[in-house]
Amino acid sequence: MLVGQYFAEDEAAMLKFGQQLLAALESEGVVFLQGDLGLGKTTLARGVIRAAGHVGAVKSPTYTLVEPYEFSGSMIFHFDLYRLSDPEELEYLGIRDYFSKNTLSLIEWPDKGAGFLPLADLEISLAIQGEGRLVSYQSFTERGRLAVSRLNLASNGSR
Ligand code: ADP
Ligand code: MG
Repeated sequence: MLVGQYFAEDEAAMLKFGQQLLAALESEGVVFLQGDLGLGKTTLARGVIRAAGHVGAVKSPTYTLVEPYEFSGSMIFHFDLYRLSDPEELEYLGIRDYFSKNTLSLIEWPDKGAGFLPLADLEISLAIQGEGRLVSYQSFTERGRLAVSRLNLASNGSR
C-alpha cells in the first residue's frame, strides 16, 4: 500500500487535484471518495470529469445515484450512494457493467454499497484543514500504487 497527501487550499486547487488524479490513473479504475457532507467530494469528481473533456455542468448524483459521462473511447461514472438504503439495490442499477476497461468510477459514500462494489484502486479521504482541505490517498491495487507514486511526484504536499 502506498499513501500520499495533497493540500487543496481552495476549490480551484481541488479541481486541479482532480486533473492530476485523472492523469495518474490513465482514466481507468475505481476510486472511493471518503469524507463528510460538504468536504469537497463532488468538487473533486467535477475536476476529474472536466479534465476528461466534459463541458457543462457536473451535477451531484444524489438522487440519480449515478451519472454517466461518455468520452471518445472511455467512460466516467460518478456515483453518490448517500441515499442508497440497501447495498443490494446496486444489483438493479446493473452495477457490474460499470466496472470495466476504459472506465473510471468515482464513488461518493462507498460504505453504503459495501459488499456490492469492487475493490478500490484508490481511496481518497477529505478533511478540513484551515480554510482548505487535506486530501489523503492510499492505494489498494497495482494500478492504485502507480497512481499514488505519480500523484506524489505531481502534488505540492508529497511525502
Ligand atoms: P461533498 O460532495 O463532499 O458534499 P462538495 O464538493 O459539494 O462536497 O463541496 C462543498 C463545498 O466545499 C463547496 O462549496 C465547495 O466549493 C467547497 N470546497 C471544495 N473544495 C474545497 C477546498 N479545497 N477548499 C475550500 N472549499 C472547498
Ligand atoms: Mg457530494
